[in-house]
Amino acid sequence: MQVLPRIQNGEVQTLCRMCDSRCGIRVRIQNGVLTDILPAENVPVNQGRICPRSKAALQVFYHPDRLTRPLKRRSDGGFEAIELPRALDEIAERLQAVKDAHGPQALGAWKGEAVGFQQQEAYVRRFVHALGSPNYFSNDSACFIGRDLGYRLVTGFGMQIPDFSRSGLILLIGTNTPVCHPPFMRELADARAGGAKLVVVDPRLNPIGCLADIYAQPIPGTDGAFAWGLINQLIQKDAFDIEIVSRYAVGFDRVADYAKAFTPQHVEDQSGILASVVERTAEYLMANRPHVSVFCGAGVEHNEGGVNAVRAYVILSCLCGAVDLHGGLFWAESPQLADLSLGDVPLQSDCDPIGARQFPVLHAMGRECHSMTAMDHILGVDGYPLRGLIMTAANPAVTNPNTQKVRKALDALDIFVVNDFFLTATARHAHYVLPAATYLERTELHVFSKFQRLALTRRVARVAGVMDEYTLWRELALRLGFGDTYFGWPDEADVNRFLLVGTGIALEDLQTHPEGIAYLPLKERKYRTRPFPTPSGKLEFTSAYLKALGLDELPVYRSPQYRRACSPDYPFLLTTGGRKTLLYHSCHQNIPGFREIHTEAEVEIHPEDAAALKVQNGDYVRISSTTGSVEIRARIVHQSELRPGVVEVYHGWEDRPVNLVTPDRVNDPISGFPLLKGIPVQIEHIPS
Ligand code: SF4
Repeated sequence: MQVLPRIQNGEVQTLCRMCDSRCGIRVRIQNGVLTDILPAENVPVNQGRICPRSKAALQVFYHPDRLTRPLKRRSDGGFEAIELPRALDEIAERLQAVKDAHGPQALGAWKGEAVGFQQQEAYVRRFVHALGSPNYFSNDSACFIGRDLGYRLVTGFGMQIPDFSRSGLILLIGTNTPVCHPPFMRELADARAGGAKLVVVDPRLNPIGCLADIYAQPIPGTDGAFAWGLINQLIQKDAFDIEIVSRYAVGFDRVADYAKAFTPQHVEDQSGILASVVERTAEYLMANRPHVSVFCGAGVEHNEGGVNAVRAYVILSCLCGAVDLHGGLFWAESPQLADLSLGDVPLQSDCDPIGARQFPVLHAMGRECHSMTAMDHILGVDGYPLRGLIMTAANPAVTNPNTQKVRKALDALDIFVVNDFFLTATARHAHYVLPAATYLERTELHVFSKFQRLALTRRVARVAGVMDEYTLWRELALRLGFGDTYFGWPDEADVNRFLLVGTGIALEDLQTHPEGIAYLPLKERKYRTRPFPTPSGKLEFTSAYLKALGLDELPVYRSPQYRRACSPDYPFLLTTGGRKTLLYHSCHQNIPGFREIHTEAEVEIHPEDAAALKVQNGDYVRISSTTGSVEIRARIVHQSELRPGVVEVYHGWEDRPVNLVTPDRVNDPISGFPLLKGIPVQIEHIPS
């Protein structure tokens, strides 16, 4: 691998992209070799701290298995290296052939997370739009957008992570902060040092739960009941923000009426959370409002009623008056960046975005197609055929539900192109695999809405033969005849300059301020002088928009399906989707040091269940659902970590994907998200 570093010796400050936190880092270079990653002190997100995952960027960069040349699948299923220009020519030719035969909607593009999160998403959106197809996909249609919709439907603005340091009470639901958002631990520690209370609600006792004043362990899928129980307490005790409710919200009377049924005892019956815990948590809320941070993690959205549960928690924040406050729900303002994604430009062709009929809110508000429905289109069982797909650094053969179906679908494509660092489980199904650039090999803009700052990442090095994301899409666009129109900028630096035109911030200023530049002063309670960005201009405790679509006007709670129709054939509940300390979804399993910590796939099981099944630590068990089965080692956890009857498996293992078991057809009706918490399963001991 030929590395062309930006400098031969010294340090380059940029942002870590090994997760979405984007901490400030300094990359050390010695004699042309990238040798270390150190924290940057001057970036507000992390203030001089980084987590162990950050260092893995160098191991990915220099990994012996890293792809540096394109691969083409042979007829025997193996791969052979080909030259980059030839690979791009052949890919463009085959994409054009699909477009000519079936129309542009038969093509789609999918952005994963391994390459990063922000500007490269806009490149993919721009490319697919210029192609004439509405079919933009990403992993967000199974993770994140569900929560964002919950916040957006009530407030009009998307989900922000609160500034915990300003809170008197922090209520975390379905999130494992030290692992999912390490930088926020400092804010949390500051708040705790100032006397803030901490309440953690999660079916899995995670490290953050061990630090809490109250840890509540609900039955999976019942978060909404707890939210309504807290709403009930605030209303019953007249302890809510009367100004917010009377001047800035619609639907309070309906909320008050519906909440009456959620007495502490009813919440206990539904969720397993003790009535006394409901009452004590409500007392904390009442004592600390409006300085309360209520934060929903992915654990809440991966349920049949996930969006409604998030909406209920957002309403709870509103009742506390924690609206447009840094410690609560914060309505961040955006910089005036140019729109690279062509989101406002209507498509020339009259075609149907995949999944928009089934899940119109996901498409209208999340602006993307439903990746689970895409598999049906590929397999010809729902709507028009999807025949060609370009995917950049996603791994749905591991991370999407119903693995068998996903693999069958990927194999059925006429043309499947993957751009990634490694020959992943998904890339092995591709006709062409292109070598992807790591974040250290590109420069792009980043918006930190919580701080209203704009920052620029720097290219630390180039790798010979590897294209950055912009060049990839530009080269394909040029070959398909729309490069000059839509990808006319010669390189990323010119794209960045174009994006910044309306912001009043020059590229050169960002280059000399790697810590970022504030684009607008932070201002609280803006709703007093301007309407909320909702259809009514107010906080929407009830949604006329959802009602018109035949969806729940009020975020009602429904008991999970497994409780309504319990099957003796599947007596256990599987939860998945939680994170590991060093792994990131399906990434980093090939980093040797990390594998010493996270050695292999395992199912976590309660000691009582293990005893009943005669399972010892390390034994193999078979987990089966109505979708499929997987064989996996058992790890018996402490009795307080899980409820009896609940088992947990990490979702990213390439060799034993738990998504062989997860269904793709049990969806939240608003977001289309799959059920990943509380899947009924059978567990059998496999005798050695
Ligand atoms: S939390 Fe860790 S992996 Fe994520 S951006 Fe910060 S240093 Fe990188």
